[in-house]
Amino acid sequence: MAAIVDKSNAGALLDPKSERVRPSLCASSRHVPNPLKRDRTAENCDSIIEYFLGTHQPGWLRKTTVPLFVSYPRLLQYQDLPRSQTDWALDSGGFTQLLKHGRWTTSPSEYADTVRRLAKEVGRLKWASIQDWLCAPASLHSTGLSVLVHQRRTVDSLYRLRSIAPDVRWLPILQGWTPSSYLDHLGMYRAAGFALERERLVGVGSLAQRQQAPALIETLAALHDAGLNIHAFGLSIAGLSKARRYIASSDSMVWSYTARRRQIKHRTCRERHLVCNNCLKYAIAWRRNLLSKLKRPLDM
Ligand SMILES: [Zn+2]
Repeated sequence: MAAIVDKSNAGALLDPKSERVRPSLCASSRHVPNPLKRDRTAENCDSIIEYFLGTHQPGWLRKTTVPLFVSYPRLLQYQDLPRSQTDWALDSGGFTQLLKHGRWTTSPSEYADTVRRLAKEVGRLKWASIQDWLCAPASLHSTGLSVLVHQRRTVDSLYRLRSIAPDVRWLPILQGWTPSSYLDHLGMYRAAGFALERERLVGVGSLAQRQQAPALIETLAALHDAGLNIHAFGLSIAGLSKARRYIASSDSMVWSYTARRRQIKHRTCRERHLVCNNCLKYAIAWRRNLLSKLKRPLDM
């Protein structure tokens, strides 16, 4: 039997007055794992996932103990950087970058220097995405380039960023569209001297729009079988329920789109806003609900 365990302090908000961690919103969660350590204490647990809550609001880094996935462009808007109270990962913003500009407008040197500064000043950065080139049709259309060129440039980004700032934990990212194209990309990394099966974690991108597609599972299963410890970008319940046995971590901010589309006001929210699409309390509740659904045993 396999289960998914929330490695964070399941849904805790930081009390801004006392700075103490308030008890979890999750009444059933009595086990508080060490977020820096793989939790093997939960019963019947042989599959672990860490789930980063995607947010447009980097200020949440000082307000919660839930792991966050924060966008580089958003964080740059802060003159007074938050000191993080939680583990977080950096999204390079590649999806929007390629869609808007058809290329990266930030040089590798500028990106590496800034991420190094963010890691130091914000603290608790677990890893940073490289300047990858997504291979979804919209991204390819925007750049006018092929999957192969996007893949080559993604390998080149890892090479450059690690050369410039080897002290930053850069996440290698695989891009592709068909399962075989992701394996081809794995081969490209190998040819360039990167043995991804030896990395602590490897990102897999361009999956978010295909959460129900057979290609999602075929891709992740093949990469898992190749020995990779996978972070699958952008999976929510539809993808996670199928993919969880193959991945180590994921992230999503679909909670915000869902709240906006359905005009959700969470029943426990006492804020003045009418819709909780930028609401930390709702986001944490959404994440907790998602993880509780995934705690059901896997169908074997
Ligand atoms: Zn709210």
